[in-house]
Amino acid sequence: MHMGDGRIWIGTDSGATTSKVGGVDASGEPVSTRLSQRPTDAHKGKDHVLRGWLEAIEAFLAENGRAWDDVGGVGLAIPGPFLAPGVLGQAANLPKDLDGWDVGSDYAARLSAAAGRPIKVTVGNDGNYGGVAEARLVRGDGTGSVLMLAPGSGLGVAYIDDRGLPLDGASLVGMEAGHMPAPLHLLGMPPFSCGCGRDWGCVEAYTTISGLPQLLAVMLERHPEHPLAASPLPIKEKVLSLRTLAQSGDTLATEIFDFQAKALGLHVAALAMAVDPEYVVIGGGLMDPEATTEEFRTRYMRILEETARERLWPAQRKAIKYSQARLGELSQAIGAALVALYSDERR
Ligand SMILES: [Zn+2]
Repeated sequence: MHMGDGRIWIGTDSGATTSKVGGVDASGEPVSTRLSQRPTDAHKGKDHVLRGWLEAIEAFLAENGRAWDDVGGVGLAIPGPFLAPGVLGQAANLPKDLDGWDVGSDYAARLSAAAGRPIKVTVGNDGNYGGVAEARLVRGDGTGSVLMLAPGSGLGVAYIDDRGLPLDGASLVGMEAGHMPAPLHLLGMPPFSCGCGRDWGCVEAYTTISGLPQLLAVMLERHPEHPLAASPLPIKEKVLSLRTLAQSGDTLATEIFDFQAKALGLHVAALAMAVDPEYVVIGGGLMDPEATTEEFRTRYMRILEETARERLWPAQRKAIKYSQARLGELSQAIGAALVALYSDERR
């Protein structure tokens, strides 16, 4: 089991509700593919959050027969935006008192105290880190660049370059491409509002759960005969029923996910104009084999690819390889561990 020098790199993936742990060895292989997660409880404050992450790592080390001596470094995947490297800005899904928190330094101090020696922490956007892990799988030993889009509650987008690292940008908000405007004239939709506050019709609103209440409202106006139009259920519950409805052949629900696939396909084409990727990976809840049928995923990918292809340059139509994300909920923790490993290798 313990190959080479036996060192491992750990990734902490901190969401607003749950935090996950992953690890990779010196070759980048995951130490474990078992999902290890626990509540973040961000509302209980910084100290509670840090203690939870540390305990999660200690449990992970114990489960995998490892010790602090084996840990080469730690990566932290966390939703942005950031004010500076490792310093959190005001995030929509985190408590306000975490605004301005130098989470990277505080976490490094705790880890170093636990390990009894300095432990370096690499902090980055969770979506970008998820892309790092998926990119390693699709390109193997190659250097092909990867564009990853993960529609879920929001739209995570990442661009992974030939070194395997994400485009973070000067202000660490690189590839926040879910908040670029959608081509509304091609979608035949009004500008939806978005959690980010922009009013130009963010792509995220047309491709994810966040915008589904607005999309469903428009669709029900156009299909007043549908049972959901007369249903007394709150809009949130109606929205949550759509995935099941679509997979049982409901035409309106199917139309809605076809629409989302088209909207994301247009965005793939727009982003390909900028970054010209070799691989496009689609992740998120809709591509989760435990949440959707293979038929559903195949249909979604086909519409997305066809929509994108029409708008690409001829060379790109042949060159771009599409695939579905494979790591699911583990991608961001594994990606964080990989960035910690890569930054160690570059020192
Ligand atoms: Zn937005």
